Amino acid sequence: MLPDQFKSLKLISDCPVCRQKKFPSEINLLDEQPEGHLIHVQCKTCQSCIVVLVSLNEQGMNLIGILTDLGSKEVKEFINRGPLSSDDIINLHENLKNKEFIQSI
Ligand SMILES: [Zn+2]
Repeated sequence: MLPDQFKSLKLISDCPVCRQKKFPSEINLLDEQPEGHLIHVQCKTCQSCIVVLVSLNEQGMNLIGILTDLGSKEVKEFINRGPLSSDDIINLHENLKNKEFIQSI
Protein backbone atom coordinates (compact mmCIF):
# COMPACT_ATOMS: atom_id res chain seq x y z
CA MET A 1 0.00 0.00 0.00
CA LEU A 2 1.38 3.38 -0.98
CA PRO A 3 1.54 6.24 1.49
CA ASP A 4 -1.26 8.81 0.99
CA GLN A 5 1.05 11.41 -0.54
CA PHE A 6 1.83 9.03 -3.45
CA LYS A 7 -1.69 7.78 -4.22
CA SER A 8 -2.54 10.50 -6.72
CA LEU A 9 1.04 11.08 -7.81
CA LYS A 10 1.74 10.54 -11.47
CA LEU A 11 5.34 9.46 -11.08
CA ILE A 12 6.05 8.91 -14.73
CA SER A 13 3.60 10.04 -17.39
CA ASP A 14 4.92 7.90 -20.29
CA CYS A 15 6.24 4.36 -20.18
CA PRO A 16 9.98 4.69 -20.96
CA VAL A 17 9.90 1.47 -23.04
CA CYS A 18 6.62 1.37 -25.03
CA ARG A 19 6.03 5.17 -24.76
CA GLN A 20 2.33 4.71 -23.96
CA LYS A 21 1.00 7.86 -22.33
CA LYS A 22 -0.57 7.52 -18.88
CA PHE A 23 0.28 3.84 -19.03
CA PRO A 24 -1.68 1.44 -16.83
CA SER A 25 0.70 0.13 -14.19
CA GLU A 26 1.05 -1.93 -11.08
CA ILE A 27 2.83 -0.02 -8.33
CA ASN A 28 4.35 -1.64 -5.24
CA LEU A 29 6.07 0.06 -2.34
CA LEU A 30 9.29 -1.87 -1.73
CA ASP A 31 10.93 0.07 1.06
CA GLU A 32 10.05 3.06 3.21
CA GLN A 33 12.83 4.99 4.91
CA PRO A 34 13.07 8.53 6.31
CA GLU A 35 15.38 9.37 3.36
CA GLY A 36 12.87 8.20 0.75
CA HIS A 37 10.65 5.49 -0.66
CA LEU A 38 11.58 2.77 -3.12
CA ILE A 39 8.79 1.93 -5.54
CA HIS A 40 8.48 -0.78 -8.21
CA VAL A 41 6.38 0.19 -11.24
CA GLN A 42 5.38 -2.35 -13.90
CA CYS A 43 3.77 -1.22 -17.17
CA LYS A 44 0.74 -3.42 -17.82
CA THR A 45 1.06 -2.84 -21.57
CA CYS A 46 4.64 -4.02 -22.20
CA GLN A 47 5.43 -5.58 -18.76
CA SER A 48 8.58 -3.43 -18.39
CA CYS A 49 9.61 -2.66 -14.82
CA ILE A 50 11.12 0.44 -13.26
CA VAL A 51 12.48 0.84 -9.75
CA VAL A 52 12.02 4.43 -8.59
CA LEU A 53 13.59 6.09 -5.55
CA VAL A 54 11.37 8.97 -4.38
CA SER A 55 12.71 11.40 -1.83
CA LEU A 56 11.29 14.63 -0.45
CA ASN A 57 13.34 17.47 0.93
CA GLU A 58 13.19 21.27 1.31
CA GLN A 59 13.87 21.74 -2.42
CA GLY A 60 11.01 19.45 -3.45
CA MET A 61 10.69 15.92 -4.75
CA ASN A 62 13.52 13.94 -6.33
CA LEU A 63 12.89 10.89 -8.51
CA ILE A 64 15.56 8.49 -9.66
CA GLY A 65 14.36 5.60 -11.81
CA ILE A 66 16.10 2.65 -13.41
CA LEU A 67 14.77 -0.01 -15.76
CA THR A 68 15.01 -3.54 -14.44
CA ASP A 69 14.00 -7.02 -15.46
CA LEU A 70 13.37 -7.92 -11.83
CA GLY A 71 9.89 -8.28 -10.39
CA SER A 72 8.97 -6.49 -7.17
CA LYS A 73 9.46 -9.66 -5.08
CA GLU A 74 12.95 -10.17 -6.54
CA VAL A 75 13.95 -6.57 -5.84
CA LYS A 76 12.74 -6.97 -2.23
CA GLU A 77 14.88 -10.10 -1.88
CA PHE A 78 17.97 -8.21 -3.08
CA ILE A 79 17.25 -5.29 -0.73
CA ASN A 80 17.02 -7.62 2.27
CA ARG A 81 19.95 -9.74 1.19
CA GLY A 82 22.71 -7.31 2.17
CA PRO A 83 26.16 -6.95 0.58
CA LEU A 84 28.01 -9.81 -1.10
CA SER A 85 30.49 -11.67 1.07
CA SER A 86 33.75 -13.32 0.04
CA ASP A 87 31.98 -16.69 0.50
CA ASP A 88 29.37 -15.61 -2.10
CA ILE A 89 32.15 -14.90 -4.61
CA ILE A 90 33.88 -18.22 -3.90
CA ASN A 91 30.55 -20.07 -4.27
CA LEU A 92 29.92 -18.32 -7.59
CA HIS A 93 33.41 -19.20 -8.78
CA GLU A 94 32.87 -22.85 -7.86
CA ASN A 95 29.42 -22.90 -9.48
CA LEU A 96 30.78 -21.47 -12.73
CA LYS A 97 32.68 -24.75 -13.13
CA ASN A 98 29.38 -26.65 -12.95
CA LYS A 99 27.79 -27.12 -16.41
CA GLU A 100 24.30 -27.59 -14.92
CA PHE A 101 24.61 -24.24 -13.12
CA ILE A 102 25.73 -22.50 -16.32
CA GLN A 103 22.79 -23.97 -18.26
CA SER A 104 20.34 -22.80 -15.56
CA ILE A 105 21.38 -19.15 -15.96
ZN1 LIG B 1 5.22 0.00 -21.38
